[in-house]
Amino acid sequence: MNAIKNYVKRLFLWELIQGLRVTGKYLFARKITVFYPEEKTPLSPRFRGQHALRRYPNGEERCIACKLCEAVCPALAITIECAERDDGTRRTTRYDIDLTKCIFCGFCEESCPVDSIVETNNFEYCGEQHNELLMTKEKLLALGAVYEQQLAKDRAKDAAYR
Ligand code: SF4
Ligand code: SF4
Repeated sequence: MNAIKNYVKRLFLWELIQGLRVTGKYLFARKITVFYPEEKTPLSPRFRGQHALRRYPNGEERCIACKLCEAVCPALAITIECAERDDGTRRTTRYDIDLTKCIFCGFCEESCPVDSIVETNNFEYCGEQHNELLMTKEKLLALGAVYEQQLAKDRAKDAAYR
């Protein structure tokens, strides 16, 4: 009985018709794809992308080298070294994030008492060599300067949700 059924199905190209039915159904449905990178989908203000270190408006580094972010990082991706400055304040002399280890959990950002280490909404980066994905303090501060306006806007939006 099954053999006859299969024969009839093959004869009338039943599977092809089924496939075309699915194609037809989606041909006129609302499109959910976008022409990336020309078009982009909206991102949450809490999106966790590439990291950055922020400064205060007067240019002073926010980071006080408390090392909370280093301690909380489950991937051991953060390495901090610090020293006391002439004015008695403590600042990092080294702040590295290894993006090949990072799992983008956001714990570093959440743990920071001065909103220094943050995750920007930038996901458009790549690296073929390990050192290209090793974020040094200089690279992180430079990114902080680039994304400061966006970061401030996202924080304001986030505060409005709470
Ligand atoms: S996002 Fe998570 S894994 Fe990545 S550096 Fe921060 S704490 Fe570590
Ligand atoms: S980034 Fe924040 S949590 Fe990490 S050492 Fe600096 S002040 Fe502390």
